[in-house]
Amino acid sequence: MTSQTFEIGDAARRFLDRGSHRLIIDGGLVEAVGGGTIETFDPSSGVVLGHLAAGEADDVEKAVRAARAAFEGEWRHWTPYDRQALLFRAYQLLNENFDDIASIETLDMGAPISRTRGSKAAALRMVQFFASMALNIRGETIQNGLPGDVTTMTIRAPAGVVAGIVPWNGSLTAIWWIVGAVMATGCTTVLKPAAEASLSILYLVELLHGIGLPKGVVNVVTGHGSTAGDALARHPDVDRIAFTGSTETGRRIIDASKVNIKRLQLELGGKSPDIVFADADLDKAVPGAALGVFGNSGQVCFAGTRLLVQRRIADEFTSRFSAFVETLRVGPAMDPSAQLGPVISTKQRDTVLSYVDAGRAEGARLVTGGNALTGQYADGYFVQPTVFAGVDMDMRIAREEIFGPVVSIIPFDDVEDAIRIGNQTEYGLAGAVWSRDVSTALTVVDRIHAGVMWVNCYGLIDPLVGFNGAKMSGYGAKGSLAHLDNYLYTKSVYVQR
Ligand code: NAD
Repeated sequence: MTSQTFEIGDAARRFLDRGSHRLIIDGGLVEAVGGGTIETFDPSSGVVLGHLAAGEADDVEKAVRAARAAFEGEWRHWTPYDRQALLFRAYQLLNENFDDIASIETLDMGAPISRTRGSKAAALRMVQFFASMALNIRGETIQNGLPGDVTTMTIRAPAGVVAGIVPWNGSLTAIWWIVGAVMATGCTTVLKPAAEASLSILYLVELLHGIGLPKGVVNVVTGHGSTAGDALARHPDVDRIAFTGSTETGRRIIDASKVNIKRLQLELGGKSPDIVFADADLDKAVPGAALGVFGNSGQVCFAGTRLLVQRRIADEFTSRFSAFVETLRVGPAMDPSAQLGPVISTKQRDTVLSYVDAGRAEGARLVTGGNALTGQYADGYFVQPTVFAGVDMDMRIAREEIFGPVVSIIPFDDVEDAIRIGNQTEYGLAGAVWSRDVSTALTVVDRIHAGVMWVNCYGLIDPLVGFNGAKMSGYGAKGSLAHLDNYLYTKSVYVQR
């Protein structure tokens, strides 16, 4: 198998050639106070791609101070139109530089270049969404029953300094949920990207300073979660936290946030049911369900990892599904024809393979995949897309978030059985139903306890509509008007004339 390589642009190449990457504090590139560094790898080859500054508590202190000063400074006086104009410039910037940003992300994170370049429209839509939000922050005037002439109203004010703690699996859009909201509302932020893949965020934030983003409004402290992340979550001068990551880390962040009762937006893990009824259009359901779980090699929070299939079509579906999966091309992420890249790290590869062992040991039937790639791909962290059939909810592969290219096909009998199994999880992020019967589809939508549901499709997200979390998948909307709640607070005002 020969592979081609997407040609990386000059600007992205110059950025990568720096080799070591500093923090971004108060608009400048600065070394970490402690001088430590973290190696970041290209997961397709295992080669070191660069070194990140290992930010710690002292760096977080500097970044929060810069964010606070920016919040109290000139940025306060930017009108909604000024902030919207900045978002318009960001749109232009993104539009012109997306291939560079996507290449950096692909090299650093391992998402196939077709996927990262393909997320351009989604990222641009997010910027457009927040640009429109900038002109839509409003309180109310409210009648009251007070004696005398009293006017009463509410004001929606920017919350202050928001910590943005994000994972490695989708930086190209993860960043806009935070930076877009900060620009729309007049908050400021300290971003803490994941140590595994921070480069595209560093590159983009540097570019944003070139289009007039005021210094201190967006700061980036790279580093480990247990040091930089924890210091940020605890910091008494951080007002809010927008966190995306695992449920386990979410718990730690809730704990750290109690120092000053920070409000949180938490988008956590998932084990989403993708439910296929016998009357579904399998020509659509087979590829739809496969891409719904194997996109980004399964490293997607809302991946449809529990594939519930009505028993009477389970055999036919399983053979059509696995035949389709076997056509998916796994390869180096910079190869434009790769549909699946590697997983993020050797640790993640080992974790995924240990779940494959657990599935086998617990009696699930391995239909296809199950191995790391060898030969010319042995140095990368590749795992074949893996399908288990005959899975039940007692097995670990059906209960735990694997975050890799592994799907469990679980048979069910009827609508009630599908809903029972679908809800048999501590998570509540997403789910889908494939059926030609509107009544079946809407009954399942109604009764699966999850923050987003899809019918006859999987994974569509528009910021205007957004998505939510339920149960242990977190809370606080991403997208929709409610997104800005985490970036604003409401003040009641009484004016005696
Ligand atoms: P993670 O929880 O390990 O890390 C996420 C971020 O938190 C990283 O920046 C990390 O450095 C930081 N962190 C770690 N420990 C910390 C601590 N004690 N205090 C503060 N910050 C800390 O998650 P990950 O492995 O990077 O990403 C995978 C997880 O993210 C999966 O569980 C996935 O489901 C979840 N995820 C959820 C969504 C969503 O929208 N619900 C989206 C993407 C990923």
